[in-house]
Amino acid sequence: MLEAIGAVDWDGLPGPDGLNGPDGLYSPARAATGLRALATATGLVRAADAGALLAGGGLVHDHSGTVFPAAVVAAPFLLAVARHGHPEAGATALGLLDDALAFAARDRSTRVATPYAEAVPICCALADHLRGGADLLATRGREPGQLLADAAEHWRFDVQEVVAGGEGVAAFGALAGRFPDGTPAAELHRAGRVAVLERVVLHYPPEPDGGPDACLRVDGVRPDELAPPAVLFPARCGPGPTDG
Ligand SMILES: [Zn+2]
Repeated sequence: MLEAIGAVDWDGLPGPDGLNGPDGLYSPARAATGLRALATATGLVRAADAGALLAGGGLVHDHSGTVFPAAVVAAPFLLAVARHGHPEAGATALGLLDDALAFAARDRSTRVATPYAEAVPICCALADHLRGGADLLATRGREPGQLLADAAEHWRFDVQEVVAGGEGVAAFGALAGRFPDGTPAAELHRAGRVAVLERVVLHYPPEPDGGPDACLRVDGVRPDELAPPAVLFPARCGPGPTDG
């Protein structure tokens, strides 16, 4: 893991304020040093020291409640520490993920690039990593299962096929997380562009205990506007209507 941590260009990641180093909240040095220290911690004191670096500008800035894109990059490392590291280091790692998602859920402007879309709300990108550690998070953390439940609010739908019908389209694909009741608005990410769909209906949900296959209905759009590859996220994670 140390090698993988060293391979990340922490200096190249942005801060929330566009500033790095002494002028900004985000400290790339704290991110790299803190993660290495947490991965190798063998007791409470070392884990706490590492946690202080990561919570004090490395991945989040806990005094101001700010999360950095570095937290998304670090999420797989933190999950690995929780899985394989010293128990105290694991508890610290899960606490950091908890804080990162809580801060990210309030941040409606920071976006990160992911393999599945170019400018994903930071909360949704984090939630996606957390779903990757679902088995672990179901039984660990301050309140086992709670972090996973929080992550589920940041649902993601990958469009695999679109069929015209009625006033709009039916989109078939894979749903991760929990689609909310009602007809929420969604962000549509397609071909490097982000658009808002005002009203999305869950036509049929994934089978209980089955795969992620689901179908969404979106009225007022043409099939080519939703043609794969396209990904949907909750619109409430992006800027609100009054934010401009
Ligand atoms: Zn989100």
